[in-house]
Amino acid sequence: MVASIKPSAHLADVRYEIRGALTRRARELEAAGRPIIKLNIGNPGRYGFEAPAHLREAIAAHLRDSEAYGHEQGLDEAREAIAAQQRARGARHVEVERIFVGNGVSELIDLSLRALLQPGDEVLLPSPDYPLWSAATILNGGTPRHYRCLAENGHLPDPAEVEALVTPRTRALVLINPNNPTGAVYPRALLEQLVAIAARHHLLLLCDEIYDDILYDDTPFQPLAEVAGELPCISFGGLSKVHRGCGYRIGWLSLSGNPARTAEYRDALQLLAALRLCANVTAQWAIPAALQGAPTIHALTAPGGRLHEARRVILEGVASSNYLDLVAPAGALYAFPQVRTDRIATFDDNAFALRLLDEESVLVVPGTSFNAPASRHLRLTLLPQPADLAEVFVRMERVLARMATE
Ligand code: PLP
Repeated sequence: MVASIKPSAHLADVRYEIRGALTRRARELEAAGRPIIKLNIGNPGRYGFEAPAHLREAIAAHLRDSEAYGHEQGLDEAREAIAAQQRARGARHVEVERIFVGNGVSELIDLSLRALLQPGDEVLLPSPDYPLWSAATILNGGTPRHYRCLAENGHLPDPAEVEALVTPRTRALVLINPNNPTGAVYPRALLEQLVAIAARHHLLLLCDEIYDDILYDDTPFQPLAEVAGELPCISFGGLSKVHRGCGYRIGWLSLSGNPARTAEYRDALQLLAALRLCANVTAQWAIPAALQGAPTIHALTAPGGRLHEARRVILEGVASSNYLDLVAPAGALYAFPQVRTDRIATFDDNAFALRLLDEESVLVVPGTSFNAPASRHLRLTLLPQPADLAEVFVRMERVLARMATE
C-alpha cells in the first residue's frame, strides 16, 4: 500500500472557487478547442487593460537598484507616497513606520490576521465576502462570523446584526469597500455606525479598500481611517485594480489611530514582514509613480469609458432579462445579479454556473463561492469587451429559460 501524504486539517473549510473546479473545467474545454467567455477573475491585464506607462517606466528605470533585498516594510520612497496618500485622506498618525508593503493585498490580509489571532478568536466578515478573508481567518486559527449584506438592503450591512454577532472572542471587524463581489460603496453614516461598534467592543478595524478609486455615477468614496480617527484601523490598497497592475503583486497596508494602542501589534507585523524578507522590490518602484501621478482610472469609469460602458451593458442585460435582478454596482469591477424567486423557485447557483459553462461556454462564479450560503447570485466581472457582455446575457437567458421549464 502507498502511504498518501495528507494535507493539513486546517484546509478543510478553506475554499477559493474563483480559481477552482469551474475554472479547471473551462481550461479543459478551451484545450479541446472551445472558446470560453470568462467573467470569473478581476484581472484587468487579461482583458486588454494596461497599467499606465509611467508605472512601467518607473520600474524599468530602477531595475539595477532592485537586485538587493529591500526593507521588510517596503522602500522608503514607496512608504512615503502611501503615508502621504493616507494622511491626505484624513488618516491619523500615519508615519512610514506604520506602512507595510506586501506582495499584493493578499499577502497582507494573511499577515494582518496572523499577527492578531489566537486560536478560537472571532473575526466579523461580510457575507458575501472576498473569500481570502474567510480563508485567512481560518488558516490563522480564527473563526469567521459573517454578517449579511443582503440585496434587499443594497448589499449594505445592518449595524444591529453586526453588533449582535460580537462575543468576548471577537477581535476584528472587516469591511470591503468598495465591495467585491457586490459593488456596494458604503455611505459615511453607515461607516460611523460600524466604527462606533468597533469602539464599544475594542475591535481592530480592517478595511479592504483595494477598489478605492473605481466608482460609478459620481458615488463618493469615504476612507474608513478618517471616520475611525484615533481608533486602531488598517486600510488596505494596492496596484492590482485601480492601477491595473495585478501581476506586479504589490499591495500595502496603513495602520492609523492612536499609536499607543497598536505599538505591540505593529511590532508583530514587522516581525512577520521580516520573516518573509521583503516584498518584490522591482515593482515597488511603481508605487510613487502611481500615487503621485494624476489618477488614470477615471477615464475608464466616466461616461464613455470602457468600464462605464461595460456596466451600462450589464444594467441593460438585467433590465431586459425575464429572470434576473441586480443592485447596480456603485464601485469596483463586478456585478452580482440574482435569479428572481418568482421566476425560478428553486435555484442552485453552482448547478447553473456548470450548465452555463457546459452548454453556453460562459464562465461566471456562483454566489456561494463568496461565503454567501444558499445564494441565488452570480458574480460577473465588468472587464470583458461590452459586446461580449451583451452576448453573455443572451446565453444566460437561454439557460435560465431552459431551467424555468424543466
Ligand atoms: N481584496 C479584494 C477585495 C480583492 O478583490 C482582491 C483581488 O481580487 C484582493 C484583495 C487581492 O488583491 P492583490 O492582487 O493585491 O493581492
